[in-house]
Order: sequence, then structure tokens, then C-alpha cells
Amino acid sequence: MSLQRLALSRIRGTLPGNPACMGCPHNIGLKIVGRVLGERAVLVIPAGCSTIISGFWPREGFDLPILHVPFASAPAVAAGLRASHEASGVDSIVVVWSGDGAAADIGFATLSGAAVRNDDILVIVSDNEAYMNTGIQASGTTMWRALTTTTPVMGKTEERKDLALLMLMHRVPYVATASIAYPTDFAAKLEKAASIRGFRFIHLHSPCPPGWRFDSDKTVYVAKLAIETGAWILWEYSGGKLSINPVSRPYADKAKRKPLAEYLKLQGRFAHLREEDIKAIEEKIEANWRLLKELERIYSG
Ligand code: SF4
Repeated sequence: MSLQRLALSRIRGTLPGNPACMGCPHNIGLKIVGRVLGERAVLVIPAGCSTIISGFWPREGFDLPILHVPFASAPAVAAGLRASHEASGVDSIVVVWSGDGAAADIGFATLSGAAVRNDDILVIVSDNEAYMNTGIQASGTTMWRALTTTTPVMGKTEERKDLALLMLMHRVPYVATASIAYPTDFAAKLEKAASIRGFRFIHLHSPCPPGWRFDSDKTVYVAKLAIETGAWILWEYSGGKLSINPVSRPYADKAKRKPLAEYLKLQGRFAHLREEDIKAIEEKIEANWRLLKELERIYSG
């Protein structure tokens, strides 16, 4: 879908004046979801920032139908909703719009169960790498060494959980990563996912200004730097084939990546890092690339 078609869509996803923070990445992601999936989309939202963004009665934050559900239940509720639509002939795309806490930690059992059953739902995890809504506590996807309110001194000491690869290993029909800085890439992945039946998963990288401690006018810039430093890799798995996407492809070559420090120094959550910590993160990123390139070779169709 072109940028022009995205702009012209009648459904806007989120509405002006909603309660999101300035520069909120979810607002960007939800606008793309609404504009691509349009009137077929029904959102199932577990507790998180998007619960707030959807607005307080009588004001609405979204122009999409939404079902608010408890933290751990979203994929199970979505699967039931989609089954009822199927039985009653409703043409819908039931979307779990989730944060990382609900998907990677508290709701992982229901996410995994829906994937194992190949339930006919699309799960989008808008990953801001912590429980932002409740006060910036570390989640399973928080980056190593990131400062949060539960990792306030050294930063997180555990490794980041790779949710998209976990979903790939569930052998589901469609898995992709995306970034709010690349709307046409995300839109194309939504269109592809919408054309497939069964369990589909998109892991959307969503930098959060207050949680990561950067200025609210830099959300897209920070998201773009994540790609250009190789810290976030755009890839897609469909029809038995995994491919690293054209946006990320050049950064498979370490020499073409921007210095990682450019990405980290914009974020207050990494202000305490020493040279050796940055080197260690670079090594983790390189190991990630090696793994992805190997998976691309294995799943070459
Ligand atoms: S805390 Fe972050 S993700 Fe949550 S509403 Fe604010 S900007 Fe958006």
C-alpha cells in the first residue's frame, strides 16, 4: 500500500485528541493498522497503554471496534470471537493489539496456545520494551542493560526474549517484524497477513519517549536508527520462506551499519553504559544477524 493510499483511507485507526503521550509510537502503528485493515478489523486489547489511548467515555480514541480484555486472555478471547464470526458469516480480521508485557510475559501461555491451535487471528505486538503504562517496569523484551524502574542501577541484567523467533518456532503460517518508522513496509505486511488464514504474528518495534527517555519529536528518528544500526531487523516468514527485508538487507553487512552509540546515546535509559557495555550489545546484535542469516538459508523456500 502506498503512502498516498494510506493517507486517503476513511478509517483513521486513532482519533485526534486521544490520551496518548506526545510522540506515542502506538498512535503511529494503530493509524496504519486502521487504514490498511479498515472496516474488517476488530481489535482485542489486553491491559496496556492502548487501553488508555482508546479513550474515556464519552470520548473515543479509536474509530475501530474494540474489545478490552484482561491481561493474559487476549489471544484466547480473539480466537473465540473469530470462531463466532466464522459461524455467523461475519467477514472480519480479529486483531490482538498487544504490548510486550501482555504478549511476552503475562499472556504468553494464551499466545502460545493460539499459535499451536493455528487460530485464525492476527497478533500485533507493539513492543515498547517495558510495562510503560504502569510505570516503566522491565519486561521480557526490555533490552539488556536498559534502565527501568525495576532495574534502576545496572539496567536489566537478563537477555531480551525474541518473541518473533519464538512464534516462528510454533510453525505458524505468517511471522514478521516491522517498525513504526517504515509505514509502507508495515502496511505491506498487514496486507499480506490479512490475505492469509490461520495464526499470523507481527512484532512491531515501537520506541516510547517517556519510557526510553528521549524527546517526543524523535520517535520515528529513534525507530529508524534502530534499523540503521542493525539493532532491529526487518524480516518476514511466509509460505515456508524466511527473508530479511530490503530495508534491513544492507545492514547485514556490519560495515554499512551506523555506530550503535548513535542509537543508544539518544536514550536516557542507556546513559549509564560504559564502552564495554556498548561493545557487548554490538556483539549481541551481530549474533542476532548471524542467526537470522542462517534461518534465511534454512527457510529458503
Ligand atoms: S508511555 Fe509510551 S507507549 Fe505508553 S502512551 Fe506514552 S508514549 Fe505511548
